Amino acid sequence: MTTTKYIFITGGVTSSLGKGIISASLAKLLQARGYAVTIQKLDPYINVDPGTLNPYEHGECYVTVDGAETDLDLGHYERFLSVPTTQANNVTTGRIYQSVINKERRGDYLGKTVQVVPHITDEIKRRIKLLGTQHKFDVVITEIGGTVGDIESLPYIEAVRQLKYELGSSNSLVIHLTLVPYLAATGELKTKPTQHSVKALLENGVQPDILVLRTEKSLSDDIRKKVGLFCNVDVSSVIESIDVSTIYEVPLAMQKEKLDVTVLKKLQLPVSDAPKLTEWKEFLKKLKNPKREVTIGLVGKYVELPDAYKSIIESFIHAGARNECKVNLKLIHSEEINESNFLEKLAPLQGILVAPGFGERGIEGKILAVKYARENGIPYFGICLGMQVAVVEFARNVLGFANAHSTEMVRSTPYPVIDLMEQQKGVTEKGGTMRLGAYPCNIKEKTKVFSAYGKIETSERHRHRYEFNNEYLCDFEKAGMIAAGINPETNLVEIMENTKHPWFVGVQFHPEYSSNVLNPHPLFVDFVKAVIQYSESKK
Ligand code: GLN
Repeated sequence: MTTTKYIFITGGVTSSLGKGIISASLAKLLQARGYAVTIQKLDPYINVDPGTLNPYEHGECYVTVDGAETDLDLGHYERFLSVPTTQANNVTTGRIYQSVINKERRGDYLGKTVQVVPHITDEIKRRIKLLGTQHKFDVVITEIGGTVGDIESLPYIEAVRQLKYELGSSNSLVIHLTLVPYLAATGELKTKPTQHSVKALLENGVQPDILVLRTEKSLSDDIRKKVGLFCNVDVSSVIESIDVSTIYEVPLAMQKEKLDVTVLKKLQLPVSDAPKLTEWKEFLKKLKNPKREVTIGLVGKYVELPDAYKSIIESFIHAGARNECKVNLKLIHSEEINESNFLEKLAPLQGILVAPGFGERGIEGKILAVKYARENGIPYFGICLGMQVAVVEFARNVLGFANAHSTEMVRSTPYPVIDLMEQQKGVTEKGGTMRLGAYPCNIKEKTKVFSAYGKIETSERHRHRYEFNNEYLCDFEKAGMIAAGINPETNLVEIMENTKHPWFVGVQFHPEYSSNVLNPHPLFVDFVKAVIQYSESKK
Protein backbone atom coordinates (compact mmCIF):
# COMPACT_ATOMS: atom_id res chain seq x y z
CA MET A 1 0.00 0.00 0.00
CA THR A 2 1.32 3.42 -0.86
CA THR A 3 -1.06 6.04 0.53
CA THR A 4 -2.10 6.24 4.15
CA LYS A 5 -5.83 6.72 4.65
CA TYR A 6 -7.06 9.09 7.36
CA ILE A 7 -10.23 8.71 9.38
CA PHE A 8 -11.38 11.50 11.67
CA ILE A 9 -13.76 10.85 14.54
CA THR A 10 -15.67 13.79 15.95
CA GLY A 11 -18.29 13.86 18.68
CA GLY A 12 -21.53 15.78 19.01
CA VAL A 13 -24.45 16.42 21.40
CA THR A 14 -22.65 15.49 24.63
CA SER A 15 -19.24 14.42 25.86
CA SER A 16 -18.55 10.90 27.18
CA LEU A 17 -20.25 9.11 24.28
CA GLY A 18 -17.27 6.81 23.91
CA LYS A 19 -15.39 8.17 20.89
CA GLY A 20 -12.32 6.36 22.19
CA ILE A 21 -14.10 3.01 22.25
CA ILE A 22 -15.63 3.52 18.79
CA SER A 23 -12.20 4.51 17.43
CA ALA A 24 -10.58 1.48 19.07
CA SER A 25 -13.35 -0.85 17.86
CA LEU A 26 -13.12 0.32 14.26
CA ALA A 27 -9.33 0.03 14.46
CA LYS A 28 -9.70 -3.50 15.82
CA LEU A 29 -11.93 -4.54 12.92
CA LEU A 30 -9.55 -3.07 10.34
CA GLN A 31 -6.57 -4.67 12.07
CA ALA A 32 -8.42 -8.02 12.08
CA ARG A 33 -8.72 -7.63 8.30
CA GLY A 34 -4.96 -7.25 7.97
CA TYR A 35 -4.49 -3.48 7.92
CA ALA A 36 -1.79 -1.70 9.94
CA VAL A 37 -3.82 0.80 11.95
CA THR A 38 -3.07 3.33 14.64
CA ILE A 39 -5.22 5.76 16.59
CA GLN A 40 -4.34 9.27 17.60
CA LYS A 41 -6.05 11.50 20.13
CA LEU A 42 -6.11 15.27 19.75
CA ASP A 43 -6.94 16.96 23.05
CA PRO A 44 -8.15 20.57 22.96
CA TYR A 45 -6.82 21.65 26.35
CA ILE A 46 -3.82 23.92 26.89
CA ASN A 47 -1.76 21.69 29.17
CA VAL A 48 1.20 20.37 27.17
CA ASP A 49 0.28 16.88 28.38
CA PRO A 50 -2.00 15.46 31.08
CA GLY A 51 0.99 14.64 33.30
CA THR A 52 0.44 17.74 35.39
CA LEU A 53 -3.32 17.20 35.72
CA ASN A 54 -4.87 15.98 38.94
CA PRO A 55 -6.61 12.61 38.33
CA TYR A 56 -9.88 14.21 39.50
CA GLU A 57 -9.65 16.52 36.46
CA HIS A 58 -8.89 14.06 33.77
CA GLY A 59 -8.82 10.50 35.08
CA GLU A 60 -5.74 8.40 34.75
CA CYS A 61 -2.59 9.60 33.04
CA TYR A 62 -1.55 6.82 30.69
CA VAL A 63 2.17 6.30 30.06
CA THR A 64 3.52 4.95 26.77
CA VAL A 65 6.66 2.84 26.27
CA ASP A 66 8.54 5.92 25.04
CA GLY A 67 7.68 7.77 28.23
CA ALA A 68 4.89 10.08 27.06
CA GLU A 69 2.27 11.04 29.67
CA THR A 70 -0.97 10.79 27.72
CA ASP A 71 -4.75 10.66 27.69
CA LEU A 72 -6.40 7.52 29.05
CA ASP A 73 -7.95 6.80 25.63
CA LEU A 74 -4.50 5.65 24.50
CA GLY A 75 -4.89 2.88 27.05
CA HIS A 76 -8.02 1.72 25.25
CA TYR A 77 -6.20 1.82 21.93
CA GLU A 78 -3.45 -0.43 23.26
CA ARG A 79 -5.83 -2.76 25.06
CA PHE A 80 -7.82 -3.28 21.84
CA LEU A 81 -4.96 -3.40 19.34
CA SER A 82 -2.07 -4.89 21.38
CA VAL A 83 0.22 -2.45 19.56
CA PRO A 84 2.18 0.17 21.53
CA THR A 85 1.37 3.84 21.06
CA THR A 86 3.91 6.67 21.30
CA GLN A 87 4.10 10.38 22.04
CA ALA A 88 2.91 11.03 18.48
CA ASN A 89 -0.43 9.39 19.30
CA ASN A 90 -1.49 12.16 21.70
CA VAL A 91 -1.33 15.84 20.85
CA THR A 92 -2.75 18.69 22.91
CA THR A 93 -3.44 22.32 22.07
CA GLY A 94 -0.64 23.17 24.51
CA ARG A 95 1.83 21.10 22.53
CA ILE A 96 0.68 22.61 19.21
CA TYR A 97 1.04 26.17 20.48
CA GLN A 98 4.36 25.36 22.11
CA SER A 99 5.81 24.21 18.74
CA VAL A 100 4.40 27.20 16.89
CA ILE A 101 5.66 29.67 19.49
CA ASN A 102 9.11 28.03 19.52
CA LYS A 103 9.23 28.37 15.73
CA GLU A 104 8.18 32.01 15.98
CA ARG A 105 10.95 32.71 18.51
CA ARG A 106 13.48 31.04 16.21
CA GLY A 107 12.34 33.40 13.48
CA ASP A 108 11.07 30.59 11.25
CA TYR A 109 8.03 32.58 10.13
CA LEU A 110 10.22 35.21 8.45
CA GLY A 111 8.40 38.26 9.76
CA LYS A 112 4.88 37.02 9.02
CA THR A 113 1.98 37.47 11.45
CA VAL A 114 1.46 34.10 13.17
CA GLN A 115 -2.22 33.11 13.11
CA VAL A 116 -4.58 30.26 14.00
CA VAL A 117 -5.17 29.75 10.28
CA PRO A 118 -2.80 28.75 8.72
CA HIS A 119 -0.05 28.34 11.34
CA ILE A 120 -1.86 26.50 14.12
CA THR A 121 -3.89 24.43 11.64
CA ASP A 122 -0.71 23.60 9.68
CA GLU A 123 0.92 22.32 12.85
CA ILE A 124 -2.18 20.22 13.62
CA LYS A 125 -2.13 18.78 10.11
CA ARG A 126 1.61 18.05 10.35
CA ARG A 127 1.06 16.10 13.58
CA ILE A 128 -1.80 14.11 12.07
CA LYS A 129 0.18 13.21 8.94
CA LEU A 130 3.34 12.35 10.90
CA LEU A 131 1.86 9.02 11.97
CA GLY A 132 1.16 8.04 8.37
CA THR A 133 4.45 9.18 6.90
CA GLN A 134 6.91 8.32 9.68
CA HIS A 135 5.33 5.23 11.11
CA LYS A 136 3.95 3.81 7.87
CA PHE A 137 0.42 2.90 8.89
CA ASP A 138 -2.20 1.95 6.29
CA VAL A 139 -4.89 3.74 8.24
CA VAL A 140 -4.59 6.49 10.85
CA ILE A 141 -7.69 7.11 12.93
CA THR A 142 -7.64 10.54 14.59
CA GLU A 143 -10.04 11.15 17.43
CA ILE A 144 -10.82 14.81 18.02
CA GLY A 145 -11.39 15.39 21.73
CA GLY A 146 -14.26 17.53 22.96
CA THR A 147 -17.66 18.11 21.38
CA VAL A 148 -18.42 19.89 18.11
CA GLY A 149 -19.39 23.47 18.94
CA ASP A 150 -16.76 23.89 21.67
CA ILE A 151 -14.59 26.95 21.19
CA GLU A 152 -11.48 24.90 21.92
CA SER A 153 -12.02 22.35 19.18
CA LEU A 154 -12.52 24.86 16.35
CA PRO A 155 -8.93 24.83 15.04
CA TYR A 156 -9.02 21.01 14.96
CA ILE A 157 -12.26 20.93 12.99
CA GLU A 158 -10.79 23.51 10.60
CA ALA A 159 -7.68 21.32 10.18
CA VAL A 160 -9.96 18.35 9.40
CA ARG A 161 -11.82 20.45 6.80
CA GLN A 162 -8.56 21.40 5.09
CA LEU A 163 -7.15 17.87 5.21
CA LYS A 164 -10.33 16.33 3.81
CA TYR A 165 -10.09 18.69 0.87
CA GLU A 166 -6.37 18.10 0.34
CA LEU A 167 -6.49 14.31 0.69
CA GLY A 168 -9.70 13.73 -1.26
CA SER A 169 -12.68 11.54 -0.48
CA SER A 170 -10.99 8.20 -1.18
CA ASN A 171 -8.16 8.96 1.24
CA SER A 172 -10.02 10.49 4.15
CA LEU A 173 -13.38 10.42 5.85
CA VAL A 174 -15.17 11.82 8.86
CA ILE A 175 -17.19 9.75 11.29
CA HIS A 176 -19.42 11.77 13.58
CA LEU A 177 -20.57 10.16 16.82
CA THR A 178 -23.76 11.51 18.41
CA LEU A 179 -26.49 10.57 20.82
CA VAL A 180 -30.10 9.69 19.98
CA PRO A 181 -31.84 10.15 23.32
CA TYR A 182 -34.91 8.12 24.31
CA LEU A 183 -37.77 10.08 25.85
CA ALA A 184 -39.52 7.72 28.22
CA ALA A 185 -42.57 10.00 28.58
CA THR A 186 -43.47 9.74 24.90
CA GLY A 187 -41.67 6.48 24.23
CA GLU A 188 -39.68 8.01 21.36
CA LEU A 189 -36.12 8.21 20.14
CA LYS A 190 -35.18 11.76 19.21
CA THR A 191 -32.97 12.68 16.26
CA LYS A 192 -33.08 16.48 16.57
CA PRO A 193 -29.86 16.79 18.63
CA THR A 194 -28.05 14.80 15.92
CA GLN A 195 -29.43 17.06 13.20
CA HIS A 196 -28.24 20.13 15.06
CA SER A 197 -24.86 18.67 15.76
CA VAL A 198 -24.33 17.83 12.08
CA LYS A 199 -25.45 21.38 11.23
CA ALA A 200 -22.76 22.70 13.58
CA LEU A 201 -20.18 20.61 11.74
CA LEU A 202 -21.49 21.83 8.37
CA GLU A 203 -21.19 25.44 9.53
CA ASN A 204 -17.49 24.68 9.92
CA GLY A 205 -17.35 23.25 6.42
CA VAL A 206 -17.24 19.58 7.36
CA GLN A 207 -19.74 17.07 5.97
CA PRO A 208 -19.59 13.82 7.94
CA ASP A 209 -19.41 10.68 5.80
CA ILE A 210 -20.64 8.26 8.44
CA LEU A 211 -22.81 8.82 11.51
CA VAL A 212 -22.56 6.55 14.53
CA LEU A 213 -25.56 6.99 16.80
CA ARG A 214 -25.35 6.03 20.45
CA THR A 215 -28.72 4.79 21.66
CA GLU A 216 -30.38 2.79 24.40
CA LYS A 217 -33.02 1.35 22.03
CA SER A 218 -32.69 -0.17 18.60
CA LEU A 219 -33.07 2.34 15.74
CA SER A 220 -35.89 1.66 13.26
CA ASP A 221 -35.32 1.94 9.51
CA ASP A 222 -37.46 5.08 9.56
CA ILE A 223 -35.17 6.76 12.06
CA ARG A 224 -32.09 5.81 10.06
CA LYS A 225 -33.70 7.19 6.89
CA LYS A 226 -34.71 10.39 8.62
CA VAL A 227 -31.23 11.01 10.00
CA GLY A 228 -29.70 10.22 6.61
CA LEU A 229 -32.05 12.65 4.86
CA PHE A 230 -31.45 15.55 7.25
CA CYS A 231 -27.70 15.02 7.43
CA ASN A 232 -26.84 14.25 3.77
CA VAL A 233 -25.63 10.74 4.61
CA ASP A 234 -26.73 7.58 2.80
CA VAL A 235 -28.73 5.28 5.02
CA SER A 236 -26.10 2.51 4.94
CA SER A 237 -23.74 5.01 6.59
CA VAL A 238 -26.05 5.57 9.55
CA ILE A 239 -24.66 3.16 12.12
CA GLU A 240 -26.37 2.18 15.35
CA SER A 241 -24.26 1.90 18.49
CA ILE A 242 -26.57 0.41 21.07
CA ASP A 243 -25.52 0.03 24.72
CA VAL A 244 -23.71 -3.28 25.35
CA SER A 245 -22.64 -4.99 28.56
CA THR A 246 -18.88 -4.53 28.07
CA ILE A 247 -16.74 -2.21 25.96
CA TYR A 248 -15.04 -5.29 24.52
CA GLU A 249 -18.31 -6.20 22.80
CA VAL A 250 -18.33 -2.97 20.76
CA PRO A 251 -16.08 -4.26 17.91
CA LEU A 252 -18.56 -7.08 17.32
CA ALA A 253 -21.52 -4.70 17.50
CA MET A 254 -19.78 -2.45 14.93
CA GLN A 255 -19.03 -5.45 12.74
CA LYS A 256 -22.72 -6.36 12.78
CA GLU A 257 -23.53 -2.83 11.64
CA LYS A 258 -20.88 -3.18 8.89
CA LEU A 259 -18.98 -0.11 10.02
CA ASP A 260 -15.71 -1.65 8.82
CA VAL A 261 -17.08 -2.57 5.38
CA THR A 262 -18.65 0.89 4.91
CA VAL A 263 -15.34 2.54 5.84
CA LEU A 264 -13.27 0.32 3.53
CA LYS A 265 -15.60 0.88 0.59
CA LYS A 266 -15.54 4.65 1.04
CA LEU A 267 -11.75 4.61 1.24
CA GLN A 268 -11.62 2.33 -1.81
CA LEU A 269 -9.72 -0.33 0.07
CA PRO A 270 -10.18 -4.06 -0.61
CA VAL A 271 -12.73 -5.76 1.64
CA SER A 272 -11.29 -9.15 2.59
CA ASP A 273 -13.32 -12.04 3.99
CA ALA A 274 -14.52 -11.72 7.55
CA PRO A 275 -12.14 -10.12 10.10
CA LYS A 276 -10.14 -12.62 12.15
CA LEU A 277 -11.47 -12.27 15.67
CA THR A 278 -11.19 -15.82 17.05
CA GLU A 279 -9.04 -14.93 20.06
CA TRP A 280 -11.12 -11.84 20.80
CA LYS A 281 -14.31 -13.91 20.81
CA GLU A 282 -12.63 -16.53 23.00
CA PHE A 283 -11.83 -13.78 25.53
CA LEU A 284 -15.42 -12.52 25.45
CA LYS A 285 -16.77 -16.02 26.00
CA LYS A 286 -14.61 -16.44 29.10
CA LEU A 287 -15.47 -12.96 30.31
CA LYS A 288 -19.18 -13.65 30.07
CA ASN A 289 -19.13 -17.16 31.54
CA PRO A 290 -17.01 -17.00 34.69
CA LYS A 291 -16.74 -20.19 36.72
CA ARG A 292 -16.03 -18.42 39.98
CA GLU A 293 -16.10 -15.02 41.65
CA VAL A 294 -13.74 -13.14 43.97
CA THR A 295 -13.69 -9.73 45.65
CA ILE A 296 -10.57 -7.60 45.52
CA GLY A 297 -10.17 -4.23 47.25
CA LEU A 298 -8.54 -1.41 45.31
CA VAL A 299 -7.29 0.99 47.96
CA GLY A 300 -6.62 4.50 46.69
CA LYS A 301 -7.45 8.11 47.26
CA TYR A 302 -9.14 9.02 43.97
CA VAL A 303 -11.88 6.39 44.22
CA GLU A 304 -14.69 8.91 43.67
CA LEU A 305 -13.58 8.93 40.04
CA PRO A 306 -12.99 5.34 38.88
CA ASP A 307 -11.43 6.68 35.63
CA ALA A 308 -8.42 7.56 37.79
CA TYR A 309 -7.75 3.80 37.92
CA LYS A 310 -8.92 2.91 34.40
CA SER A 311 -5.99 0.70 33.38
CA ILE A 312 -6.00 -1.20 36.69
CA ILE A 313 -9.74 -1.84 36.40
CA GLU A 314 -9.34 -3.09 32.81
CA SER A 315 -6.32 -5.23 33.75
CA PHE A 316 -8.53 -7.08 36.24
CA ILE A 317 -11.07 -7.69 33.48
CA HIS A 318 -8.35 -9.25 31.29
CA ALA A 319 -6.81 -11.26 34.14
CA GLY A 320 -10.24 -12.30 35.43
CA ALA A 321 -11.25 -13.67 32.02
CA ARG A 322 -7.94 -15.54 31.71
CA ASN A 323 -8.71 -17.20 35.08
CA GLU A 324 -12.39 -17.67 34.15
CA CYS A 325 -13.21 -15.66 37.24
CA LYS A 326 -15.37 -12.61 37.79
CA VAL A 327 -13.36 -10.07 39.77
CA ASN A 328 -15.58 -7.80 41.83
CA LEU A 329 -13.42 -4.76 42.38
CA LYS A 330 -14.29 -2.77 45.48
CA LEU A 331 -12.90 0.75 45.42
CA ILE A 332 -11.97 1.73 48.96
CA HIS A 333 -10.99 5.23 50.00
CA SER A 334 -7.69 5.09 51.87
CA GLU A 335 -8.60 8.18 53.91
CA GLU A 336 -11.54 6.26 55.33
CA ILE A 337 -9.49 3.34 56.68
CA ASN A 338 -8.39 3.74 60.28
CA GLU A 339 -7.40 1.73 63.35
CA SER A 340 -10.99 1.38 64.52
CA ASN A 341 -12.67 0.35 61.27
CA PHE A 342 -10.08 -1.49 59.17
CA LEU A 343 -11.45 -4.94 60.00
CA GLU A 344 -14.95 -4.05 58.92
CA LYS A 345 -13.61 -2.49 55.69
CA LEU A 346 -11.05 -5.13 54.77
CA ALA A 347 -12.43 -8.43 56.09
CA PRO A 348 -14.80 -8.98 53.10
CA LEU A 349 -11.82 -8.90 50.69
CA GLN A 350 -9.97 -11.88 49.27
CA GLY A 351 -7.19 -9.77 47.81
CA ILE A 352 -5.88 -6.23 48.27
CA LEU A 353 -4.27 -3.87 45.77
CA VAL A 354 -2.86 -0.53 46.86
CA ALA A 355 -2.91 1.87 43.95
CA PRO A 356 -0.39 4.36 42.62
CA GLY A 357 -0.57 7.91 43.91
CA PHE A 358 1.21 11.02 45.01
CA GLY A 359 1.46 12.89 48.28
CA GLU A 360 0.58 12.30 51.87
CA ARG A 361 -3.23 12.28 51.88
CA GLY A 362 -4.65 8.89 52.91
CA ILE A 363 -1.21 7.32 53.33
CA GLU A 364 -1.77 5.83 56.81
CA GLY A 365 -4.93 4.08 55.58
CA LYS A 366 -2.86 2.46 52.84
CA ILE A 367 -0.25 1.32 55.36
CA LEU A 368 -3.00 -0.23 57.51
CA ALA A 369 -4.34 -2.11 54.47
CA VAL A 370 -0.84 -3.47 53.78
CA LYS A 371 -0.41 -4.56 57.40
CA TYR A 372 -3.74 -6.38 57.38
CA ALA A 373 -2.87 -8.21 54.13
CA ARG A 374 0.62 -9.15 55.32
CA GLU A 375 -0.45 -10.41 58.74
CA ASN A 376 -3.42 -12.38 57.47
CA GLY A 377 -1.89 -14.03 54.41
CA ILE A 378 -4.23 -12.16 52.08
CA PRO A 379 -2.82 -11.81 48.55
CA TYR A 380 -1.36 -8.31 48.19
CA PHE A 381 -0.38 -6.41 45.07
CA GLY A 382 1.17 -2.95 45.46
CA ILE A 383 1.68 -0.76 42.41
CA CYS A 384 4.20 2.09 42.52
CA LEU A 385 3.11 3.99 45.67
CA GLY A 386 1.50 0.64 46.63
CA MET A 387 4.98 -0.94 46.64
CA GLN A 388 6.43 1.99 48.54
CA VAL A 389 3.86 1.78 51.35
CA ALA A 390 4.46 -1.98 51.55
CA VAL A 391 8.14 -1.22 52.15
CA VAL A 392 7.30 1.41 54.79
CA GLU A 393 4.91 -0.97 56.56
CA PHE A 394 7.51 -3.76 56.62
CA ALA A 395 10.18 -1.39 57.93
CA ARG A 396 7.95 -0.18 60.74
CA ASN A 397 6.22 -3.36 61.81
CA VAL A 398 8.68 -6.16 60.96
CA LEU A 399 12.10 -4.52 61.11
CA GLY A 400 11.07 -2.28 64.02
CA PHE A 401 12.17 0.95 62.33
CA ALA A 402 9.87 3.34 64.18
CA ASN A 403 8.50 6.17 62.03
CA ALA A 404 10.11 4.79 58.87
CA HIS A 405 8.68 6.56 55.84
CA SER A 406 9.13 7.74 52.31
CA THR A 407 10.85 11.11 52.14
CA GLU A 408 8.02 12.17 49.81
CA MET A 409 5.78 12.21 52.89
CA VAL A 410 8.19 13.04 55.75
CA ARG A 411 11.47 14.55 54.67
CA SER A 412 13.10 14.14 58.10
CA THR A 413 12.11 10.52 58.74
CA PRO A 414 14.78 8.63 60.74
CA TYR A 415 14.46 5.68 58.31
CA PRO A 416 14.10 6.94 54.72
CA VAL A 417 13.36 3.48 53.28
CA ILE A 418 11.90 5.15 50.18
CA ASP A 419 13.90 8.09 48.93
CA LEU A 420 14.11 10.51 46.03
CA MET A 421 16.01 9.06 43.06
CA GLU A 422 19.49 10.50 42.55
CA GLN A 423 18.61 11.84 39.07
CA GLN A 424 15.56 13.61 40.52
CA LYS A 425 17.50 15.68 43.04
CA GLY A 426 18.17 18.64 40.73
CA VAL A 427 14.71 18.61 39.14
CA THR A 428 12.68 21.78 39.66
CA GLU A 429 10.07 21.66 36.86
CA LYS A 430 7.12 19.34 37.39
CA GLY A 431 6.03 18.66 33.79
CA GLY A 432 7.45 15.55 32.10
CA THR A 433 10.34 15.19 34.55
CA MET A 434 9.54 11.95 36.39
CA ARG A 435 11.24 8.64 35.58
CA LEU A 436 8.97 7.84 32.67
CA GLY A 437 8.50 5.05 30.17
CA ALA A 438 9.87 1.54 29.79
CA TYR A 439 13.01 0.34 31.57
CA PRO A 440 14.45 -3.18 31.68
CA CYS A 441 13.90 -5.33 34.75
CA ASN A 442 15.67 -8.59 35.57
CA ILE A 443 13.66 -11.08 37.60
CA LYS A 444 15.21 -13.28 40.24
CA GLU A 445 14.68 -17.00 39.68
CA LYS A 446 12.78 -19.13 42.21
CA THR A 447 10.46 -16.28 43.11
CA LYS A 448 6.70 -16.07 42.64
CA VAL A 449 7.08 -13.26 40.15
CA PHE A 450 9.48 -15.43 38.15
CA SER A 451 6.90 -18.19 37.93
CA ALA A 452 4.33 -15.59 36.85
CA TYR A 453 6.52 -14.11 34.09
CA GLY A 454 8.24 -17.38 33.14
CA LYS A 455 11.34 -15.44 32.10
CA ILE A 456 14.20 -13.41 33.53
CA GLU A 457 14.25 -10.34 31.33
CA THR A 458 11.33 -8.03 31.03
CA SER A 459 10.62 -4.36 30.49
CA GLU A 460 8.02 -2.30 32.31
CA ARG A 461 6.70 1.26 32.25
CA HIS A 462 7.38 3.76 35.00
CA ARG A 463 6.10 7.04 36.40
CA HIS A 464 7.69 8.04 39.68
CA ARG A 465 10.35 10.12 41.42
CA TYR A 466 11.00 8.01 44.53
CA GLU A 467 12.57 4.56 44.85
CA PHE A 468 13.52 1.84 47.33
CA ASN A 469 16.57 2.97 49.31
CA ASN A 470 19.19 0.27 48.64
CA GLU A 471 20.99 1.06 51.90
CA TYR A 472 18.28 -0.95 53.65
CA LEU A 473 18.14 -3.88 51.24
CA CYS A 474 20.17 -6.27 53.46
CA ASP A 475 17.83 -5.66 56.42
CA PHE A 476 14.77 -6.35 54.29
CA GLU A 477 16.18 -9.45 52.60
CA LYS A 478 17.29 -10.97 55.92
CA ALA A 479 13.71 -10.67 57.13
CA GLY A 480 12.28 -12.29 53.97
CA MET A 481 11.28 -9.24 51.90
CA ILE A 482 13.48 -9.62 48.85
CA ALA A 483 14.27 -7.61 45.74
CA ALA A 484 12.75 -9.96 43.16
CA GLY A 485 13.27 -7.59 40.25
CA ILE A 486 16.15 -5.20 39.64
CA ASN A 487 16.99 -2.74 36.90
CA PRO A 488 20.19 -4.31 35.46
CA GLU A 489 21.72 -0.94 34.58
CA THR A 490 21.07 1.12 37.70
CA ASN A 491 20.36 -1.51 40.36
CA LEU A 492 17.09 0.24 41.24
CA VAL A 493 14.70 -2.14 42.96
CA GLU A 494 11.75 -2.78 40.67
CA ILE A 495 9.95 -5.59 42.53
CA MET A 496 9.75 -6.50 46.22
CA GLU A 497 8.39 -9.88 47.19
CA ASN A 498 7.61 -11.12 50.69
CA THR A 499 8.84 -14.73 50.73
CA LYS A 500 7.02 -15.51 53.96
CA HIS A 501 3.60 -14.80 52.52
CA PRO A 502 1.45 -16.75 50.03
CA TRP A 503 1.45 -13.84 47.51
CA PHE A 504 2.76 -10.44 48.44
CA VAL A 505 4.30 -8.42 45.63
CA GLY A 506 5.08 -4.73 45.23
CA VAL A 507 6.18 -3.29 41.90
CA GLN A 508 7.75 0.12 41.33
CA PHE A 509 6.47 0.10 37.75
CA HIS A 510 2.97 0.11 36.24
CA PRO A 511 2.02 -3.32 34.90
CA GLU A 512 -1.52 -2.04 34.24
CA TYR A 513 -0.33 0.04 31.26
CA SER A 514 0.77 -3.03 29.35
CA SER A 515 -2.11 -5.40 30.02
CA ASN A 516 -4.32 -5.97 27.00
CA VAL A 517 -7.14 -8.25 25.95
CA LEU A 518 -4.97 -10.75 24.11
CA ASN A 519 -1.99 -10.50 26.49
CA PRO A 520 -3.19 -9.93 30.04
CA HIS A 521 -0.32 -8.87 32.28
CA PRO A 522 1.28 -11.94 33.97
CA LEU A 523 1.34 -10.30 37.41
CA PHE A 524 -2.38 -9.50 37.31
CA VAL A 525 -3.11 -13.04 36.07
CA ASP A 526 -1.01 -14.56 38.86
CA PHE A 527 -2.44 -12.24 41.51
CA VAL A 528 -6.01 -13.20 40.57
CA LYS A 529 -4.96 -16.86 40.64
CA ALA A 530 -3.59 -16.38 44.18
CA VAL A 531 -6.80 -14.63 45.20
CA ILE A 532 -8.85 -17.57 43.88
CA GLN A 533 -6.67 -20.00 45.84
CA TYR A 534 -7.03 -17.92 48.99
CA SER A 535 -10.80 -17.69 48.65
CA GLU A 536 -11.08 -21.45 48.03
CA SER A 537 -8.94 -22.18 51.10
CA LYS A 538 -11.45 -20.21 53.18
CA LYS A 539 -14.50 -22.16 52.03
N1 GLN B 1 4.61 9.27 44.54
C1 GLN B 1 5.47 8.15 44.27
C2 GLN B 1 6.72 8.54 43.50
O1 GLN B 1 6.76 9.56 42.85
C3 GLN B 1 4.70 7.06 43.55
C4 GLN B 1 4.27 7.45 42.18
C5 GLN B 1 3.21 6.55 41.62
O2 GLN B 1 2.52 5.82 42.34
N2 GLN B 1 3.00 6.62 40.31
O3 GLN B 1 7.68 7.82 43.50
